[in-house]
Amino acid sequence: MKRTALLALAASLAFSMGAQAGEGFDVIALGARGGIEDGNLSAYLISPHGDPRAVTCDAGALVAGLRTAEAKGALVDVSVPADSAYTKIGYVLVEQIKGYLISHAHLDHIAGLIAASPDDGKKPIYALPSVNSDIEQTYFNWEAWPNFGNRGKEPQLKKYDYRDLPAGGKVELADTAMSVTAFPLSHGGVESTAFLIESGDDALLCFGDTGPDEVEKSTRIADVWTAVAEKVRGKRLKAIIIEVSYTNAQPDKFLFGHLTPAWLLKSLRGLEEKAGKGSLKDLPMVVSHIKYSLKKGPSPQEEILGELQAGNDLGVNFIIPEQGLKWRF
Ligand SMILES: [Zn+2]
Ligand SMILES: [Zn+2]
Repeated sequence: MKRTALLALAASLAFSMGAQAGEGFDVIALGARGGIEDGNLSAYLISPHGDPRAVTCDAGALVAGLRTAEAKGALVDVSVPADSAYTKIGYVLVEQIKGYLISHAHLDHIAGLIAASPDDGKKPIYALPSVNSDIEQTYFNWEAWPNFGNRGKEPQLKKYDYRDLPAGGKVELADTAMSVTAFPLSHGGVESTAFLIESGDDALLCFGDTGPDEVEKSTRIADVWTAVAEKVRGKRLKAIIIEVSYTNAQPDKFLFGHLTPAWLLKSLRGLEEKAGKGSLKDLPMVVSHIKYSLKKGPSPQEEILGELQAGNDLGVNFIIPEQGLKWRF
């Protein structure tokens, strides 16, 4: 074999192994807020670093998020084949997003998927059985919207293949180098989900909406911490995306299944207890689902970050996301 061919082979091997070898993840915020800003609702595009085959964790905003991501330069690495009919945004949506992980069926977590569905490609929706059933019955039912799914009311357009995730069981994400494990969360009477996404030895945890265990009278967040403690200890958990919807001023009885900075910090101390003292130092934590405010005064993002930092004796690296930002974790 010629030297150039050998080099090319080595490079392609390095690329195909790169996704498996502790390279971490590329994450783009397609939607950063928890409400009320249509076009900027919970959605994160996630792939192993350098590997374009992605999934999204929730899909509150897709096309709007990709447009902002392109405008901010987050899609510079995307190369659309010359023979593709698609724009860069179309190519990412239809070809590179290989599936959607949906934490629960609230509109702010799925509006982008529904809006894009007529022009989207064929792909799976991964969710807990209760969530897939809500999506089928609430949206893709020929009343709210045509049935683009492969269950429910006939005729089924079969664009989206519902894949029911077993709680706590690892499932391969088709056509990607990732797997997912779903953990049920308690969200004010609604079943929501935390997704542990793994690629090789690396992991990333993406939470849907959740109330504090103490308020929800559950142990579901604690159960997630138990499941990931060893990865945190070994620095194999690269980042956590988790919601904080309100400032500390919100009374517990009006949390409606959401977290405040104080509740998140309290819960994280539980994780540190399981994973070891100092184990959360520098861990990137994306604070998602902060609600857009129509009122004058300090933004809720500033207030929430301030409250998190004030109690951050854990050394966590709290990040306030903005739509279109890209990180490597
Ligand atoms: Zn929400
Ligand atoms: Zn919700």
